[in-house]
Amino acid sequence: MSSIKAPRGVRDILPEESWKWAHVFDVTRQVARDFGYREVHLPIFEYTELFSRGVGETTDVVEKEMYTFTDRGGRSITLRPELSASMVRSYLEHGMSRQQQPVKLWSAGPMFRYERPQKGRYRQFWQLDFEAIGSQDPYVDVEVIDLSLEIFRRLGLKGLEVKINSVGCPVCRPLYRDVLRDFLKPNLEKLCPSCRDRYDRNPLRIIDCKNPECKAVTENAPRTIDYLCEECSEHFVGVESGLRVLGADFSVDNRLVRGLDYYTKTAYEILSGDLGAQNAVCGGGRYDNLAESIGGKHTPGVGFAAGVERIVLSMEQQGSDFGLQPKTDVYIASAGEEARERALKILHELRNLCISSDMDYQDRSLKAQFKAANNMGAEYVCVIGEDELKSGMVTLKNMNSGDQQTLTLEEGLDILKRAELSRKSR
Ligand code: ATP
Ligand code: MG
Repeated sequence: MSSIKAPRGVRDILPEESWKWAHVFDVTRQVARDFGYREVHLPIFEYTELFSRGVGETTDVVEKEMYTFTDRGGRSITLRPELSASMVRSYLEHGMSRQQQPVKLWSAGPMFRYERPQKGRYRQFWQLDFEAIGSQDPYVDVEVIDLSLEIFRRLGLKGLEVKINSVGCPVCRPLYRDVLRDFLKPNLEKLCPSCRDRYDRNPLRIIDCKNPECKAVTENAPRTIDYLCEECSEHFVGVESGLRVLGADFSVDNRLVRGLDYYTKTAYEILSGDLGAQNAVCGGGRYDNLAESIGGKHTPGVGFAAGVERIVLSMEQQGSDFGLQPKTDVYIASAGEEARERALKILHELRNLCISSDMDYQDRSLKAQFKAANNMGAEYVCVIGEDELKSGMVTLKNMNSGDQQTLTLEEGLDILKRAELSRKSR
């Protein structure tokens, strides 16, 4: 019988990598605080209709990528493919419209999409998600874009490309849709089968298609921004001028329409040149009709989601700094049962003092314990051998300098408390 492996397209994030993730989350949490976003933890599964109504029936995510099943109560349940719909659902469900607006929330966690697994594309992947709900001010769009850039700046990611566009609203989009259909009609035959299918149902998505033939057809397609209604047009000008005030480096990309139906007005994406085909580290925009589409009252909102795997991948690619890898600073080596008992007690005390420390649980020789300490990268080894047992002292060896001193436990603890250990410099 073959041993069981993890399902295709999912990954174990092991200790060799997870400390890098912790750095990304630490930085994200600080940025969230600095921008006034509060953390929420939302369910990993929701009723399917939240996504079919919220994200949109004709999107790839809903049509092809959802993990949907019927639970034992006969209800259709879906593992969340994204967070905005849940965020807005939660905002409505908890009456957050009564709070001061906009309500600014963030969350991090796994999302699930049935996609073809490849580098930077998984079936379970993590997102950092930020949403500002309840304001239509273009400066909130600017804040959200700036927030995502600030996370990347603090993570030291370089060479990112920011693309923005406006996809209009239910007032101006129908007109654009017609203009686009007229433009595409003569070349309908040249489009890929899914785009031919999109022609009637969701023609905007054709502009977004990665297929080279479809790209050629849409090369000179009419631009959404030329067909915006006055409100959308003014809003877009507001976003652009806000970004200029911040000196942000961005370009307007008329092909950017994004995969989810709920976007209105601003759509944006941040790309990293170090990722190959899966080059989007972050995508977002405004979704003023999402709340209504899931049965709430009209509530504007804007947000983004950034992929954690792709962030870590491009940081690795660029040799970015992940901070210090957590490690054990002090190892207690002991010989004999009585010494071991004392070691256990000292270990407990060190940990009470928040000093990362460990001891032997494998009945190793003293020599092997030193080797274990070395492997862990311990700065100090505290030895309790026969002599130390008799004298009631401890021997403290500095593993970097090789210096060693025999001291009372109190003196030893004093040295460790004052030492530059990894915990303190983190
Ligand atoms: P893509 O064009 O790469 O499919 P998307 O437009 O579907 O991205 P969004 O729905 O905007 O992506 O999600 C936001 C971010 O989540 C993306 O920019 C990306 O970093 C990450 N992401 C999306 N899908 C995956 C996936 N299957 N595996 C890993 N990360 C993903
Ligand atoms: Mg996708």
